[in-house]
Amino acid sequence: MNDSTTPTPAEDPAALVARLRATFRAGRTRPLDWRKQQLTRLRDMLTEHREDIADALHADLGKPRAEAYRSEIDFSVREIDHTLDHLEEWLRPESVDVSGVFGERASAGTQYDPLGVVLVIAPWNYPAQLLLVPVAGALAAGNAVVVKPSEMAPATSAVIAQLLPRHLDTDAVAVVEGGVPETTELLAQRFDHIFYTGNGAVGRIVMRAAAEHLTPVTLELGGKSPAFVDAGVNTTEVARRLARTKFANAGQTCVAPDYVLTDPATARALETALAEAIEEQYGVDPAVSDAYGRIVNERHFDRLSGLLGSGRVVTGGQTDRAAKYIAPTVLAGVRPDEPVMREEIFGPVLPIVEVEGLDEAIGFINDRDKPLALYAFTDSDRTRERLAAETSSGGLGFGLPMAHLSVPELPFGGVGESGLGAYHGPHSIATFSHRKARLDVPLPA
Ligand code: NAD
Repeated sequence: MNDSTTPTPAEDPAALVARLRATFRAGRTRPLDWRKQQLTRLRDMLTEHREDIADALHADLGKPRAEAYRSEIDFSVREIDHTLDHLEEWLRPESVDVSGVFGERASAGTQYDPLGVVLVIAPWNYPAQLLLVPVAGALAAGNAVVVKPSEMAPATSAVIAQLLPRHLDTDAVAVVEGGVPETTELLAQRFDHIFYTGNGAVGRIVMRAAAEHLTPVTLELGGKSPAFVDAGVNTTEVARRLARTKFANAGQTCVAPDYVLTDPATARALETALAEAIEEQYGVDPAVSDAYGRIVNERHFDRLSGLLGSGRVVTGGQTDRAAKYIAPTVLAGVRPDEPVMREEIFGPVLPIVEVEGLDEAIGFINDRDKPLALYAFTDSDRTRERLAAETSSGGLGFGLPMAHLSVPELPFGGVGESGLGAYHGPHSIATFSHRKARLDVPLPA
């Protein structure tokens, strides 16, 4: 007998993958109708259980409700709706002309084949969106999926583990909860694709495990995404946009601007403007604002507290370990060798590093790992073109940080240390499919 207090024993990972692979081999996940049905059910799950999911996100990260809707639930729903609207078109086989080589009766083209059984491993910072958007992509491409939520967001992991099997085809989709031991066991299995979002150290573990089976991987990693602020821009508006993006989710966003690069005069103007923008957004005391989140756990709280000693505090700096609260903080006059500049911050701390101008900024960016995103605020087309041509980053955003990831037609992913591969919209279909070449040279009649 099983009641609500007795957890169902976890299925052996090898048996689980074999069960899902049998479903895939039977052809169940391939028809367009099945894919659309699963996407629709996933969408319904998100809308029917909007409140349950928002509650879980609040329990895990103190995530403000409006933010939970905007960046997790509604974001995922929008991505699914867009996929439902375009899936047929994205899956359409393409043809190439081979008549010159093989004659008029020959035909050739490409088609998207589903891969098989996909493993999706998600992080804790957007624990619903970063789990469910890849799952939607894998299902849209016609795969079976093993879903591994982050153990560091336990409430969200639990609600998803409870809801997914109620809404989706359990012969093709399975949730495995747990931490390192469970993930290690999963990684020992043979998958047809592994989609991992998280840090680069674990990214390497995932890629090593995948190499055993020659399994392709997508690695959505992080890094320090710079924001270059050109001389002469409207610093009041720049500060508003920086504050809105940097301090959302208490800075725990992979594409948040990590630090500002600007000239000394613009830095002075930005210091004041950022302090004002933060107050505008969260009031005089962000600790009592219901629009401001919390740090995920004590380990990250302690790590972040250790970064507050770099440079000079312009605004913020207050901390409360019991509440896992760190105020939105701006640090000015930060030197490149200080602790806050030596690792991805992943929290509500924004250092300003001074450079003489664009040449030095480009050199600074290129001396470091390729970032997941590069942002710039400038009124100059020449500056835009130089940044586009002379730097490498996963994405490039002018004027509004983070917004590129909400455009489903744009590939979202990193380059070098910030990741491998991309997804969203049609790019998810490319990621979770094999583009098969097909040639037909008929026998003579
Ligand atoms: P995390 O600690 O939740 O880890 C992510 C996943 O890896 C979890 O499911 C966890 O169970 C698993 N994992 C952890 N250790 C493991 C191990 N030794 N072996 C196997 N699996 C293991 O998340 P995190 O890594 O702290 O996430 C933060 C990082 O992720 C930051 O660097 C951030 O920039 C990056 N990130 C990137 C994106 C993106 O889309 N590119 C999005 C969010 C976060």
